[in-house]
Amino acid sequence: MARALECDKCNRIVENVGDLAVKVTCSYCTMMMTGLPEESKSTYKPTGRPAGWHFMNEFVDKDGNVFHRGKEQPKLFGTLKSTKVDAKKKIKRRTKNEILIARAAEKKVALKKAVKKQKDFINHNFGG
Ligand SMILES: [Zn+2]
Repeated sequence: MARALECDKCNRIVENVGDLAVKVTCSYCTMMMTGLPEESKSTYKPTGRPAGWHFMNEFVDKDGNVFHRGKEQPKLFGTLKSTKVDAKKKIKRRTKNEILIARAAEKKVALKKAVKKQKDFINHNFGG
């Protein structure tokens, strides 16, 4: 059964400690001691590559390295134009007000349609 123990250094509760553990160092203290792993350090470095570049069918970085789904294609190095990365591209979020206006417009259209339907109905039955 997993137990919880206090970290030996900062007294933070560490859960899922092995049964045989008498002393435990929490992940924070471990990280402080060992420093960040190289891998996670590198993710903080700007690579100039867009998020999710390694999911792209084809991505060419600014140096001309070609990647197919994140896998380097050394044979294609320098043969293709680098993929343009639009860092400024942002998902445009509508403001609450814009959403309300859009909704009102939709309702208006629906109402117009309903009115026309009703008119048609009346005309059909009583008109002309
Ligand atoms: Zn700790």
